[in-house]
Amino acid sequence: MPPVENDSGKNGLKSEIQQLIDSNQVCVFSKSYCPFCVKVKDLFKELNVDCNVVELDLLENGAIYQDTLLEMTGQKTVPNVFINKTHVGGCDKTLQAHKDGSLQQLLSGENEAYDYDLIVIGGGSGGLACSKEAAALGKKVMVLDYVVPTPKGTTWGLGGTCVNVGCIPKKLMHQTALLGTAMHDARKFGWQFDESVKHNWETMKEGVNNYIGSLNWNYRVALRDKNVNYVNAYAEFIEPHKIKGTNKRGKETFYTSARFVLATGERPRYLGIPGDKEYCITSDDLFSLPHCPGKTLVIGASYVALECGGFLAGLGLDVTVMVRSILLRGFDQDMANRAGEHMEEHGVKFLRKYVPVKIEELEAGSPGRLKVTAKSTETDELIEGEYNTVLIAVGRDACTDKIGLDKAGVHVNPKNGKIPVNDEEQTNVPHIYAVGDILEGKWELTPVAIQAGRLLARRLYGGAKTKVDYVNVPTTVFTPLEYGSCGLSEDRATELYGQENIEVFHSLFWPLEFTVPGRDNNKCYGKIICNKLDNDRVIGFHYLGPNAGEVTQGFGAAMKCGATKEQLDTTIGIHPTCAEIFTTMEVTKSSGGDIAQAGC
Ligand code: FAD
Ligand code: NAP
Repeated sequence: MPPVENDSGKNGLKSEIQQLIDSNQVCVFSKSYCPFCVKVKDLFKELNVDCNVVELDLLENGAIYQDTLLEMTGQKTVPNVFINKTHVGGCDKTLQAHKDGSLQQLLSGENEAYDYDLIVIGGGSGGLACSKEAAALGKKVMVLDYVVPTPKGTTWGLGGTCVNVGCIPKKLMHQTALLGTAMHDARKFGWQFDESVKHNWETMKEGVNNYIGSLNWNYRVALRDKNVNYVNAYAEFIEPHKIKGTNKRGKETFYTSARFVLATGERPRYLGIPGDKEYCITSDDLFSLPHCPGKTLVIGASYVALECGGFLAGLGLDVTVMVRSILLRGFDQDMANRAGEHMEEHGVKFLRKYVPVKIEELEAGSPGRLKVTAKSTETDELIEGEYNTVLIAVGRDACTDKIGLDKAGVHVNPKNGKIPVNDEEQTNVPHIYAVGDILEGKWELTPVAIQAGRLLARRLYGGAKTKVDYVNVPTTVFTPLEYGSCGLSEDRATELYGQENIEVFHSLFWPLEFTVPGRDNNKCYGKIICNKLDNDRVIGFHYLGPNAGEVTQGFGAAMKCGATKEQLDTTIGIHPTCAEIFTTMEVTKSSGGDIAQAGC
């Protein structure tokens, strides 16, 4: 070992190292026996790039080199990689840079100064989470968010779908409906109120919208506090590293960035039939509708349709749901039908196997009167009906067609406009990523978008490795009787594992809260699907009853930990609750045994 260097010796070594870095396109400080160094050297060989390799273990003063490198870069370990004078880091960082395209950019010498490290397009659930996390990790970040008004002219503030026209107003209006039911129940519990109970749409709308306004404001403040530059402008690519932002006055501004995250979400689809855009509304209009919608036809039979139809009926309105085929496609059909039956028993009408063909205005007003002509999906029969409001809820389209993705070279599935990504949310263009509802084949849920945005920023800028686990995502449909699920439907489990390899345990139940008011006896239902081939592991969880979101969240965590039927059986229930039913399930569906619950 050479003697310890004095300061002038150290400085001499520093400039020697600096010279090596400055005079070579690629400089790798390595150790000949280190497998990580071999990986990096192999990568450059594969890329046909000459690199100057300094094998520290073969140098007499290699240890001092290593100490000096630590002083210069904060990194002691090898490999220690430099490209065109830029410190890249070790093996993981080099491989990551190769994956995300920044390595090629450094190699090409195009390490030009961009305006931003990261530009996020879309300030909804995914975009805000990603931009705040990236800024917290020290990056220069911009987020652009712009709401294109609906055909009815409705628009809203920062925060995306969930806050403005999705989860938040939906759940608050669902709560309004539940309060109506609670008031009926209250009389049976001895509460006395003489006046007839009425609901005022405007008051509810104002309360909900004031709360949303406060959230919009909080988001702005949070972005400012975290040093994210928020611009209220519509973004579109004009080059792979350059976008144009157009604000509401039409002013265009250009920005460049090393990386981009697409988080533009979805907007409601229209039917493409006469009168739909002129006279109908979508969920984008409903939550801020200035007047009570009155007698309403809801077209569609999935999450949005059933939730909105459900709470409107709960406010006392005359509601009809027009169903093209089945309820809640993709969900457990047994559960979906039970949720639908409950709605039907509580006054919602279902027009099954019909699709609308024409909407006409009979009378303008707030609300006016509309005539809907619909056609049977099975015969040529045409039917007509009169409604005050028609709410279209037939799915949502990804906002990817007008953002210049062709200019950036990003692939989109032409059938549905969705963006395919790898398991790190990276598109086919290495420096462009995507999160949230626009992803191909992923859940369209707020917590999924948030998780994807946050983890992406941590992987890109925080050296983290955790990826989103898109399996066993718990979710809840906020129908009047709520339906929570996690994992596989019974139909899907049967398809995947075969009827003989699954066991379904189920039970009806009657929440204690429903007993005194005497309603919905044995309408609530719980079901778990277990994989016999894997220690009776729970692969499907289904709950129809009050507070489904709260119940399902906990069982979602249990499933993430790999819960088995035996573990549920040995878990002690909390009495008297609805969720305890899952700790005492004994009847299998195959046995045909009685599942009605009588007493505790
Ligand atoms: P979004 O939140 O939609 O954000 C995208 C943002 O980008 C929007 O603000 C948009 O205006 C903006 N934008 C688009 N293009 C551009 C552009 N070119 N330039 C600038 N800005 C642009 N999920 C749940 O988990 N629970 C629920 O209870 C629930 N209820 C829902 C109820 C309804 C009625 C609806 C419609 C959805 C509901 N969802 C629910 C789904 C949830 O809202 C979405 O999954 C979530 O908002 C997706 O987040 P995102 O970041 O992908 O997109
Ligand atoms: P969706 O799940 O795509 O369902 C669309 C519905 O519209 C289906 O019932 C479909 O019927 C029907 N439909 C489609 N085209 C039609 C036509 N031309 N005529 C008549 N009916 C037609 O859409 P969504 O309800 O808008 O939900 C979108 C996403 O938002 C969901 O996937 C969900 O992830 C998210 N979301 C979540 C929540 C929550 O977490 N509680 C709430 C709302 C929304 P078919 O079955 O016949 O195709």
